[in-house]
Amino acid sequence: MLKLYNTLTRQKEIFEPLKSDYVRQYDCGPTVYWYAHIGNLWRYMMSDLIRRVLEFNGYQVKQVMNITDVGHLTDEDLAADTGEDKMEVAARREKKTPQEIAEFYTQAFLKDLDGLNIQRPHVMPKATDHIPEMIALIQRLEEKGYVYRAGNYVVFDISKFPDYSKLSGKNLDELRVGARLEPVEGKKNPFDFALWIVDPQHLMRWDSPWGVGYPGWHIECSAMSMKYLGEQLDIHTGGEDNIFPHHENEIAQSEAATGKQFVKYWLHAGFLQVEGKKMSKSLENLYRLDDLMGRGFVPSAFRYLCLTAHYRTPLNFTWDGLEAAQNALKKLREFARSISENGSEQLGKLSEPDGQKVGKSDTLAHRRTDAPSRSEFSEYHQRFREAINDDLNTPQALAVVWDLVKSARADTSLRPVAYKLLRGFDKVLGLKLTEVCAEAIPQVPKQLVEERERHRREGHFDEADQIRQKILDLGYTVEDTSEGPKIKKA
Ligand SMILES: [Zn+2]
Repeated sequence: MLKLYNTLTRQKEIFEPLKSDYVRQYDCGPTVYWYAHIGNLWRYMMSDLIRRVLEFNGYQVKQVMNITDVGHLTDEDLAADTGEDKMEVAARREKKTPQEIAEFYTQAFLKDLDGLNIQRPHVMPKATDHIPEMIALIQRLEEKGYVYRAGNYVVFDISKFPDYSKLSGKNLDELRVGARLEPVEGKKNPFDFALWIVDPQHLMRWDSPWGVGYPGWHIECSAMSMKYLGEQLDIHTGGEDNIFPHHENEIAQSEAATGKQFVKYWLHAGFLQVEGKKMSKSLENLYRLDDLMGRGFVPSAFRYLCLTAHYRTPLNFTWDGLEAAQNALKKLREFARSISENGSEQLGKLSEPDGQKVGKSDTLAHRRTDAPSRSEFSEYHQRFREAINDDLNTPQALAVVWDLVKSARADTSLRPVAYKLLRGFDKVLGLKLTEVCAEAIPQVPKQLVEERERHRREGHFDEADQIRQKILDLGYTVEDTSEGPKIKKA
């Protein structure tokens, strides 16, 4: 029985999909104007975790994540529809077209996903490929009387949607006073939000019934999720900061258009802090995955670190924590490797009914009597399942993994069971525990190896030795072979 905390109802609920075994999951994706930082990646890891847990429970999942490549404005104020399009700001900064910016940062994003073993969603629609769908949805809202014009903005009228703020539970009057929101010219309510912005000067612009311009940010998620998943979704994920106003607005425009409940379960990830502080440009702590790798960490170490916290609690990222995560991961992988060699023969046996079939040889038959029973297998499996099914309690799930390792270290007969279990658990954890894989060597040691080669060619052997030490400090060794230097994890 899978239980998930639903932001909408503010409680853990038993998960029951709208259609029996098929789950429709939508995740708010990146705005591709810059690299993703580890706070963003922690959230996508949570979306990935949900899908993995659903699949572990036997559901078939269709996962959709949008790529925002237009219309996300720089002004993050509560209900402001002002500011500049983030894509255009980036295009000016890098002297590229918005399309080039989008392409570049989409690729960088996908590389990060792959590095962290985050499964690619089945569909990753781009906003700019779905302008007609957005226009059609706005027209549908217009026909139903939810839309009015305020200056250059085509705006959603929240007063027509009495359920507005049901997700966030916010009291809009208090919010308005607290945020000192000034009335926006032509807007009836400061929380009315733009569906379309008429702006013939905008770099990326399209024809529309309201004039040449571009879509608001919120409308893309409703238009694209409905296109690929239908009018009702089982699960919608995002970060805590998406709840208001983004997801509130998605609900308003979707439910106003269809007259049906848009999403059954809303799931939100907590914030990631760095050394106990909020991530921010001014603190220069907006780390990227590449920054972590540059300091000699493998991407999966960050994944492990994320799993040590519950997704709804704030995750405090520290370098010490990452180091501990990397060490723990290393131990787990070494253990999995050590038991994989003698585990394979007995593995097949475990999938057979208990002691029913006769072994190929006496030796095997003899081993069978010593082999662990299914009850041990079931016990750990059960405990792991209970942990992840309790609103994705990954710290608890990791504790089960370590219990298993401890028991299998003490009792060798448990090892084949342990190996099989670890392989199964890893479908959820995604730590590549039983894959024999050398994770990509980070950029910095690689560059150091090249630098060392240069010094050696030029006969600067002292410098070359110093660099070898630096590489060693990062956790790598260099071996000079006839085909050139080979770098390995120390
Ligand atoms: Zn969204």
